[in-house]
Amino acid sequence: MPSSDSDGVSHPPLKRPRTEDSAKTQDRPPILRSDVWYDDGNIIVIAESTQFKVFKGKLSEASTIFQDMFLVSTPSTDDVLDGCPVIHISDSAEDVRHMLRAIHNWQLYPYQDLLPFAAVRAFLRMGKKYNIHYLWEDGRQPGDVWVAISSATLHDVIRLAWETPLLCVLPQALFSRCSWPTSWNRSFTGNLEKMDHCLPYPLRYKRDDILGGEIGDDGSSVKLSVEDTLRCVLGRERILEFQAKHSYGWLQSECISSSPPCTIAKLDTFGQLCGPPLKIRCPPGVLWVAEWDETFCSKCVAFGKSVFTSSEEALWKALPSFFDLPPWAELKAP
Ligand SMILES: [Zn+2]
Repeated sequence: MPSSDSDGVSHPPLKRPRTEDSAKTQDRPPILRSDVWYDDGNIIVIAESTQFKVFKGKLSEASTIFQDMFLVSTPSTDDVLDGCPVIHISDSAEDVRHMLRAIHNWQLYPYQDLLPFAAVRAFLRMGKKYNIHYLWEDGRQPGDVWVAISSATLHDVIRLAWETPLLCVLPQALFSRCSWPTSWNRSFTGNLEKMDHCLPYPLRYKRDDILGGEIGDDGSSVKLSVEDTLRCVLGRERILEFQAKHSYGWLQSECISSSPPCTIAKLDTFGQLCGPPLKIRCPPGVLWVAEWDETFCSKCVAFGKSVFTSSEEALWKALPSFFDLPPWAELKAP
């Protein structure tokens, strides 16, 4: 594959055999040649204003949609470039580039590497639209792909989850949105389908953060839909209530060993955790504060730890309901 500039495109020295109206030509965006360009390829795919020269057989092998498209299309002498037939598809050039790169050279996306969000998004969109099973499966690979979201906002993730749809990602993505301040570094590692990999930090949080947009890499503001904003605002209140009642409720009870200092310490700790400024802490089991081992008596410590563990499991199980989403089984259904 020839080298190219950073966005994978270069201007091609192509000759178009058909005659074109010069005024029309001037109105068109400049034609770009992608770095997905095999000199011995036998078909040219055009998406937006970018051309890709690839192999028809590879496309047919990967996708029954392309296979059918080639069967029904009638070759036209007007639509020939670089000696090859041309097909126009309506997807974004970026999505098509990732799809064609993956179809022709899967090794460009090593399994052990973190994938950029643009690739994940392309795999999910293109894998579904063109029925390319392995792209869709890799795009939704839990734990290995969603950790790679190093160049996207959470809002991008949430919108993509609805679009594709990949609904099982939503509870954790919305939860993270409730827990993270807008100014939080957007690069994150975490398995959005598993609680045990989510952020182990208590974060100071302002409700207004949900209402604002997140700033993308291109400087644009990415906002949640009105529905998702409401889900986050309501979900946050429900999670705070859950944590106060289940994760920290045991702190409100008298010491198991009837020790007055332990009882006072527990009540004081509850006030700190559940008083303003309110913070969502997650996962509760991970957030056991080491100094509590000394603050409370041994019986209260043992009991508190067991409550933390069970409340963590309960929170995860109930997470979709906090955001008015269907249960996990339904969200994970193919
Ligand atoms: Zn105690």
